[in-house]
Amino acid sequence: MLRRELPLAETAGWVIRIAEGRIAPGPDGSPLQLQQSWSSTWQPLCYWDEVPVALAVEAQAEESWPDGRHWLSRLPESWFPLLSTALQVAAWLRDHRFCGRCGAPSARLDREFAMLCPHCGHRNYPRISPCIITLVTHGESLLLARSPRFPPGRYSTLAGFIEPGESAEDAVRREIHEEVGLPVGRVRYYRSQAWPFPHSLMLGFFAEAASRELHIDGVEIVDAAWFRPGRLPQLPPLYSISRALIETHLAEVATATR
Ligand SMILES: [Zn+2]
Repeated sequence: MLRRELPLAETAGWVIRIAEGRIAPGPDGSPLQLQQSWSSTWQPLCYWDEVPVALAVEAQAEESWPDGRHWLSRLPESWFPLLSTALQVAAWLRDHRFCGRCGAPSARLDREFAMLCPHCGHRNYPRISPCIITLVTHGESLLLARSPRFPPGRYSTLAGFIEPGESAEDAVRREIHEEVGLPVGRVRYYRSQAWPFPHSLMLGFFAEAASRELHIDGVEIVDAAWFRPGRLPQLPPLYSISRALIETHLAEVATATR
């Protein structure tokens, strides 16, 4: 279990090695390297089962290192917070080595996740990008769509980044309108999930469509269709919030029709 406290007083413990979004397998096949003394260049990360964990961000991954999605698909869900935290902090450390304000090299602060510019004093914290992810329904039917980036045959819920100055609810209505041209009625918040590809926070919603007529945008979405609960296409992986939205709707339909 993850405990979110930086292990600042510790000098040894487990180590997670990450490069380019890929995590080195440890000797037991988990993402943890053997407990060892830490290098001062490593980032103290958290406690895992009350053992301190440090993050070693390396320049290059080896062939044998699985990527983040692969790890999440094969480990139990209890690992999700640790892997999600490690992947996001690693991406932030890699991408914020220089000050975004004045361009000088930044230095890691120890007492929190922060990069401090010694030249102008600007601080950078891990970037978290909020996204909305929505299952649009019409009665029992589900609206699922294909992004051009998906594996062949896969359909999922609609998703998009929240824009500056926009509320999450407005983003839900805008994304649905842009991607499939639908007006929606009631919008209901579900729950959220950290999504470390590379640093999203997915805010899950259900939305009730006011019509079934689709106008697919053809760019962000290459296909979208209404599906009946008994006749579904290939769905997103079990660890994703999009799958949880779909499964929650299916369970609600099954309860209502029992
Ligand atoms: Zn600066």
